[in-house]
Amino acid sequence: MNPIEAQDPAIWNLIRAEEARQREDLELIASENYASAAVMAAAGSVLTNKYAEGLPGKRYYGGCAVVDQVEDIARERALQLFGADGVNVQPHSGAQANAAVYLSCLKPGDVLMGLDLSNGGHLTHGSPATSSGKLYRAVHYRVDSTGRIDMNAVRELALRERPAMIVTGASAYPRLWDFAAFRAIADEVGALLLADIAHVAGLVAVGLHPSPVPYCDFVTTTTHKTLRGPRGGIAMARSAHMKALNSAVFPGSQGGPLMHIIAAKAVAFGEALRPEFKAYQQQVLDNAQAMAGRLQERGFALVSGGTDNHLMLLDLSLKSYSGKDAEEVLGRAGITVNKNTVPNEKRSPFVTSGVRLGTPAMTTRGCVAGDAIRVADLIADALDNREDADRIASIRAEIHALCGTKPVPGLGR
Ligand SMILES: *Cc1c(COP(=O)(O)O)cnc(C)c1O
Repeated sequence: MNPIEAQDPAIWNLIRAEEARQREDLELIASENYASAAVMAAAGSVLTNKYAEGLPGKRYYGGCAVVDQVEDIARERALQLFGADGVNVQPHSGAQANAAVYLSCLKPGDVLMGLDLSNGGHLTHGSPATSSGKLYRAVHYRVDSTGRIDMNAVRELALRERPAMIVTGASAYPRLWDFAAFRAIADEVGALLLADIAHVAGLVAVGLHPSPVPYCDFVTTTTHKTLRGPRGGIAMARSAHMKALNSAVFPGSQGGPLMHIIAAKAVAFGEALRPEFKAYQQQVLDNAQAMAGRLQERGFALVSGGTDNHLMLLDLSLKSYSGKDAEEVLGRAGITVNKNTVPNEKRSPFVTSGVRLGTPAMTTRGCVAGDAIRVADLIADALDNREDADRIASIRAEIHALCGTKPVPGLGR
């Protein structure tokens, strides 16, 4: 019997229920993925018992000889993947990695410039609801009428506001980033440049998205999205910034590192260094292209008219139903998505006119372009037949049948 089952049936039953949901339903949330059995085993290992404040070789606790080696391997593999000068693998999440970067080089009141939240940016890029918007004076650039970042407007804003730091990267932007153009603007105004590649890190690691590393002072990422590791973050920097960055992670903004998660990051980075990972990321892109193309053939508008990466944004501005309505209907059809604001959003952030769709998780379970096209048709059918309960039930049955043929790595059957 599983020890959780023996000791705590309430939690065990919920874990089993979540396992069933992950197995049966189709996961299209662009920021989610399925970690491998090896990654999950590392995350569930005895390393959770170890305190290791500090860095390998410079700890504030004894007994760190083993975990020092674990963290060194995680760092070496991260540097091999991304080619940065230095990395700190301790941030507990992407938000923590960003907070540490800001703390390492900004003073309260400094100007922080990032992509507007409703245009696809992340909360930690200066939203007033977060420390990034409370401690720093945030200003935001936006996308133009074609849904792409307007580099002339970025330059004008930077010249006017003189930011101490410019942040690139997004949670809901389907196009590539021109890091060289951002570098030129940052240099013109004397700003530091951060690339937050939380979403596209897996693509960057295999060369299917331009790398920000040659252009940026700092690069942060989550480890659980396209990178397919455990829930967590890492922060990379040029050599000159590493000392300040390390102090900003610990003790600046965190206590002891999660050594079990750092072990799981090392395992995931090892997976990402294998040739199969590049093939996986290429399939993620192929599936996104196939899905986007079919949705457009079915009459759905996509923000920016398509995608260059793993995600797309359905633009429902001209439809009678909202992103919230679409999320609910698709949920009943066995397809998990999230509502999302679109540029020039007219509805509230709790209702929205968009749906974000991503292919990383379905690709991990073995879906190919033909599956992505079929799923796009089922999404279109469900949205076009929102009031028809029988139709939604038959779509759900087909989604569950598809998922039945595509086992999730790391999950029992
Ligand atoms: C997901 C995301 C984050 C935050 O990651 P958490 O691990 O949830 O804190 C930060 N930046 C961007 C661009 C993201 O998409």
